[in-house]
Amino acid sequence: MEFDYDLFVIGGGSGGVRAARVAAGDAGAKVALAEEDRYGGTCVIRGCVPKKLMVYASGYSDTVPAAAAYGWDAQIGGFDWLAFRGKLHGELDRLEGVYRKLLANSGVTTYDARAKLAGPNTVSLSTGEEITAKTILIATGGRPVVPDVPGAEHAITSNEIFHLDALPRKMLIVGGGYIACEFAGVMNGLGVDTHLWYRGTQVLRGFDEEARQLIVDGMAGRGVKIATELNVASIDKDGGGLIVTGTDGEVHAFDSVLFATGRAPNTDDLGLDGAGVKIGKSREIVVSELSQTATPSVYAIGDVTNRVNLTPVAIREGMAFVETVFKDNPTPVDHELIPTAVFTQPEFGTVGLSEEDAAAREPIEVYSTSFRPMNVSFIDGAHKVLMKLIVSQKTRVVLGCHIVGDAAGEMIQMVGIAVKMGTTKEDFDRVCAVHPTAAEELVTMKTPLRTT
Ligand code: FAD
Ligand code: NDP
Repeated sequence: MEFDYDLFVIGGGSGGVRAARVAAGDAGAKVALAEEDRYGGTCVIRGCVPKKLMVYASGYSDTVPAAAAYGWDAQIGGFDWLAFRGKLHGELDRLEGVYRKLLANSGVTTYDARAKLAGPNTVSLSTGEEITAKTILIATGGRPVVPDVPGAEHAITSNEIFHLDALPRKMLIVGGGYIACEFAGVMNGLGVDTHLWYRGTQVLRGFDEEARQLIVDGMAGRGVKIATELNVASIDKDGGGLIVTGTDGEVHAFDSVLFATGRAPNTDDLGLDGAGVKIGKSREIVVSELSQTATPSVYAIGDVTNRVNLTPVAIREGMAFVETVFKDNPTPVDHELIPTAVFTQPEFGTVGLSEEDAAAREPIEVYSTSFRPMNVSFIDGAHKVLMKLIVSQKTRVVLGCHIVGDAAGEMIQMVGIAVKMGTTKEDFDRVCAVHPTAAEELVTMKTPLRTT
């Protein structure tokens, strides 16, 4: 059968754009891609990129007093949110243009339309067109989930935070994951009276406990008001503000509420059932290790498959898909030992097993040190860093590394290489320290703090 295209990609985000470009550019396939909103997807338009620019913006409220402590005649003034917002969206427009150009230059045909499956080899577009393709790749990402509480419609999500007309004076952030903790730091740094409510006992569930505690101490020390075992029962509008009733029955006033309570895969109304594509418990598309769905001509990558929901992972899954389908080289994506950073203030970089997970698996040694780094010598406040290695007693392999402090994300990218290579503690010890740095502790910790 003759198809219109070799490949049709649904979704122009991190994974979809990379797969389309590489399939067309490197593999010479005839490729089309449909994007219903803006090219670049969550990461570029409403995720990693604008978030990190806000992290940078918010960091200046810490650095100016630090400069003063070092002797500079410097003081922080007000933050002009609208000036920042204008620059932010100018940059996002530029990046979207880059994404469009990359696709065009690779020879990918783009449709600015919503797409859904109309069969194993057919896509129907919101424009009314029907297009056939030998292979279809679903890369539709995810969206924020808002709890079903009365008045939830008065709250915002991470989608809206980049478009605020004004910064709130007092804000409630609900959740304890990456997004809640990152935006708590951002808003606090921008001068917003920031409150974070988390339903559990400690935010950043699943990460190393010692690291979580230091992050919480650092956030609280910078001014974020964190309440645990507390959730929103209801939200009422009150003039320009919001009245929030907590699950403890207490009533509080806020100017804005942000729900950062998780994300769901975009699988609704995609024609999946009709095409035989299976979805799982979280409504994610179920795929094999080669990203193939239950329908052999349909593949899926990125957040819509809810494996590891990070941009570099979506990109890798896209490239592996092209290797598998267009280069005759079946390539599963390795989801083990993925380094990641949480851009909290203080920042967190982590790879491998937490102390708790490692100890549940095998006997370990824990090398850990927490101290005030040299750059804050003249500055008061909660500025401790953490350098921590988890080591297998039996193999000596470093099973995990957890860093809290300035540039932890940059550091963990490098440590991630060593950990992925299966490096032992003795390999770390053989490396000469870089002095004076905070990271030198990673190669100078001689005695385990504890063994379990
Ligand atoms: P997406 O990037 O979500 O792209 C999916 C695209 O498909 C979207 O453009 C959407 O409009 C389109 N689409 C959906 N349905 C259809 C349809 N039917 N037809 C046509 N088009 C459709 N990850 C990191 O690694 N580092 C970070 O610092 C980081 N920060 C983040 C901050 C926030 C606030 C958020 C929300 C996420 C962050 N992430 C971060 C996660 C990262 O953004 C995602 O993992 C990544 O974007 C997933 O890529 P994807 O290609 O699967 O989907
Ligand atoms: P997460 O899954 O990380 O966190 C969701 C949080 O919301 C959890 O603390 C969860 O609590 C809480 N929660 C869930 N449901 C409710 C509810 N009904 N009421 C109150 N609280 C609730 O999701 P995020 O939205 O923060 O981020 C989504 C994903 O995006 C991340 O997991 C990550 O993969 C990616 N991301 C990556 C970033 C990075 O790389 N720096 C930055 C931002 C996002 P509980 O712990 O009890 O389940």
